Amino acid sequence: MTLVTIFLVSLLTQTAVSSTSILDISRAQWDALNASVSGRLRTATPFALPCFSKYNNVSVAVNEAACSAIQANYTSPNFRLESFSANMNVEYETCMSTNSGCLLDTVDPRNPLATQGTSCNQGEISPYYIDIRMAADIQAAFQFARQTGVPLSIKNSGHDYMGRSRRRNSLGIWTHNLQSMTYHSQFTPALCRTSYRAITVGAGITFEQVYEFADDNDSMFIGGYAQTIGASGGVVDTAFWRLLFGLGVDRVLEIKIVTPDGQLLTANACQNTDLFWALRGGGGGTFGVVVESTHLVEQAIPLQVINMTFIPTDTNLQEFF
Ligand SMILES: Cc1cc2nc3c(=O)[nH]c(=O)nc-3n(C[C@H](O)[C@H](O)[C@H](O)COP(=O)(O)OP(=O)(O)OC[C@H]3O[C@@H](n4cnc5c(N)ncnc54)[C@H](O)[C@@H]3O)c2cc1C
Repeated sequence: MTLVTIFLVSLLTQTAVSSTSILDISRAQWDALNASVSGRLRTATPFALPCFSKYNNVSVAVNEAACSAIQANYTSPNFRLESFSANMNVEYETCMSTNSGCLLDTVDPRNPLATQGTSCNQGEISPYYIDIRMAADIQAAFQFARQTGVPLSIKNSGHDYMGRSRRRNSLGIWTHNLQSMTYHSQFTPALCRTSYRAITVGAGITFEQVYEFADDNDSMFIGGYAQTIGASGGVVDTAFWRLLFGLGVDRVLEIKIVTPDGQLLTANACQNTDLFWALRGGGGGTFGVVVESTHLVEQAIPLQVINMTFIPTDTNLQEFF
C-alpha cells in the first residue's frame, strides 16, 4: 500500500460522509456498534463532573465521594491516566474557542469558586468512546466512521501538547488498555533476516511500565522522561526521545497498525516500508491506529547514584558546584 493511498483513505474517513453529526446517530446504530466491540462502547462525561451541580446547564447531584477523590488527585498524572476524560494539560478538555468545559482550580482543586454556580460542559470530551482491547475493535470504529461520517479521535495518555488526542463530537478510540509486553532475546521483524534484542509493547503501555519490564529482563529501553507517556502509538508518531543511543524513533523495529481502510498491517524495514518510514514521526493518528510496536533494547548499564542532602548557603553551594 502506498502512502498516497493511505493518506487518501485517511482523508476520506474524516470528510467523505461528514454530514452526520454524532448527535444524530440512532440508538440502534450505537447498539450495533456496541455489539461489534463486545459491549465496550462507553459514554464519557467530563473528568470533574462529580464536583458540579449543573451539567450542560441542567441541575445534577454533586457526587461528594467521587469529587473528593478527583480534588485530591487533580494534578496526579497516574490518576488522570486511568480516565478517558482526563488530559495531562487540562485546557485540552475544554473547547478553547468558546471557553466551555468543566475544570477545577488547578492551584487549589478544592476552591469552591470554580464550581459554584458554574455549569460543567462537555468541552472537547467525546461523548462516546471505545475501550479498545484488540485490533478488531479499531476495525469496528473505522467501519462505523466510514458508514456514518462521524469523525474519530485517538487517545492514549492524553499527553499531546497540542491537544490532538481530542476532537469534539468525535467517537473516541481509547488505546490505554492495550496492555501487552513481550521480551525477545532474538526478534526478527516479519519477512526480515536480522534479529535483535527487543521488547514489544501494546499501544497503551507507558514509559514507566516498559522501563520496569526492561529492567526485569536486564535490558534498557530508550524513552522519554515523563513516566505516564505512552511508549508506543502516540510517541512513535510524534516524539523524539534521547540522544545517547540515537533517536527513539530510529530504534523502532516493527509496528502493527490498523489503517483507515480496516486492514491490520505489519510495517517494518522489509514490508510496508513507506508506511514504516512515515509512522516514525509522521504525527499522531495520521496513518491509522497503532496496535503495538517493537523496539530495540540495550543490555542494562549499572547506574551509580549519590543522594546528597544539605542546607544550601552562599558558600557551600559554590563549593558544591
Ligand atoms: C509532561 C510531558 C513530558 C513529556 N516528556 C517528553 C520526553 O521526555 N520526550 C519526548 O520525546 N516527548 C515528551 N513529551 C511529549 C510526548 O511524548 C508526546 O506528547 C506524545 O505524543 C504523547 O503520546 P501519548 O500517546 O502518551 O499521548 P496522547 O495525547 O494520548 O497521544 C498523542 C498523539 O498520538 C495519537 N495517538 C495516540 N495513540 C495512538 C495510536 N495507538 N495510534 C496512532 N496515534 C495515536 C493521538 O491521537 C495524539 O495525536 C512530553 C509531554 C508531556 C505533556
